[in-house]
Amino acid sequence: MTKIIHHPSDETLLRYVSGGYDTGYNLVLATHLSVCAKCQKTVELQQLIGGHVLEEEKPANMNISASDLLRKADMPVVETPKPLGSTYSKKYGFEVPAILNSYVDGDFDGLKWQSLSPSIKQAVLTVDGKASARLLWMKPGHAVPAHGHSGEELTMILSGGYYDGDEAYTKGDLHCADHESPHMPTAMEDQPCIVLAATDSPLVFRGIIPRLLQPFFKI
Ligand SMILES: [Zn+2]
Repeated sequence: MTKIIHHPSDETLLRYVSGGYDTGYNLVLATHLSVCAKCQKTVELQQLIGGHVLEEEKPANMNISASDLLRKADMPVVETPKPLGSTYSKKYGFEVPAILNSYVDGDFDGLKWQSLSPSIKQAVLTVDGKASARLLWMKPGHAVPAHGHSGEELTMILSGGYYDGDEAYTKGDLHCADHESPHMPTAMEDQPCIVLAATDSPLVFRGIIPRLLQPFFKI
């Protein structure tokens, strides 16, 4: 298994744990957590600390778990996803994290993709208010047109990998991009790259053609 290099920050995980994200972001982070033992440990620690803080304020009840305490205090709780296994995609040749099953009707290979260009396809999985999560398929060696962000973009690499500036992102990595980092992810040459990405505002494309097409693709 490829070693995961890029993880969400502790702040991002804390926001996730306390229910501060919309569904699209939760899906991307939960998918990363389902394959990342390091981030699972961080989240468990954050939940324990959250519970401990509440314990200090209330009479101690050692039989109550940290997440029960958070619940009692009416704090939103996001359960730590347990490793759920995966389903092998014959068509795309990789293990699809089981957490995505209900979003693809249990059939990743039967997904209906929408072509954004000859080298990029998308499949929108969930839209919740302004936040959405979508799968993107990138042809080997091809780039997503240069764009910036007016909000936060969280991307998890499901298969293959891409380069963005000096950094390489491969299977399992979680890439956080914000308005300060306009970028042009470019798929590695050896195989298509499939990612799960959450955004809460339209991408800010630099080129005229992507900008003209943007309203049709709602990206
Ligand atoms: Zn991680």
